[in-house]
Amino acid sequence: MIDAWALLLGASLAAATPIAADDARDLRARLDLLRRQDERVAAVAFRLARDNVALCGRRTALAGVVLQTGTQYGGRWRDAARRYLGVGARPTVVALAPDSPGERAGLRRGDALVAIGGEAAGGDAANGRAGRVGAAAAYALLDGARLGEPLAISVVRGGAPLVAELKPVPGCAGRAQLTVSAEFGASADARTVSITDALAIHTRSEDELAVILAHEWAHLIMKNAGRREAASLAVEREADRLGLFLAARAGYRAETARDLWPRLDALARRTHVGRARTGSPGRLQGINAALGEIAAKRRTGALLIPDGWTGAR
Ligand SMILES: [Zn+2]
Repeated sequence: MIDAWALLLGASLAAATPIAADDARDLRARLDLLRRQDERVAAVAFRLARDNVALCGRRTALAGVVLQTGTQYGGRWRDAARRYLGVGARPTVVALAPDSPGERAGLRRGDALVAIGGEAAGGDAANGRAGRVGAAAAYALLDGARLGEPLAISVVRGGAPLVAELKPVPGCAGRAQLTVSAEFGASADARTVSITDALAIHTRSEDELAVILAHEWAHLIMKNAGRREAASLAVEREADRLGLFLAARAGYRAETARDLWPRLDALARRTHVGRARTGSPGRLQGINAALGEIAAKRRTGALLIPDGWTGAR
């Protein structure tokens, strides 16, 4: 579901579309900026997925790593990504969430994955499981890892082979991704939560980033529970409420939504692209009610689960 203030999503890195930038000298700085946003998104997504296992229906094994391959970049960006980020044909680590299994296993940015649990990690040559290209085969192997059992990750680092032992932790299924676009937008389908780099850069804190991603994650959970309604104020209010609980449970300041939502609204209006509704009285009223509910539960030491929550199927 694309939110009211979520505009047309721009070209994803996965779509191999060149990023518009005229000055070649800016390539490295731009890649570095994107990588930093990838790291922020990875960090927040890992905490949201790890700390909300009780509220999400579909679960998975979490590694907390972001992988990319060269074909995710178009044109001259591909060469720059290889040179500056070390991203080639193999699935390559571009970001690691703090305190994640990937970080604890000693994986590092630039590590190129060769095999996961003895199976080919795949990559742009489509030599992985079921011919999946890009990072898809590697992600499928990581997601399918058995909890509680160490998983051998064979990588190449600086030209030398190395094996790391990953111990995945349980978490909500779903992947968060940064998409490259000058538009402010975030969206969710049943598998993926997306945020544009423009919006991620615009957030003033990790709490704000978490509130946005958690709102989209709430949509993802609702879709996985079989919900298929069209966008409406009622659905948005429900995603707002569940999202605030998800953010709070992961230790983020959900209260930042009070300022953030009206700001996104104004932002979308100013850019002439949003059918902005995030600042509508109905949304804000629901947000305040949910924040009150969260505060009350904290005061009484009750579980941070929305009242009336029947669980995601
Ligand atoms: Zn929404």
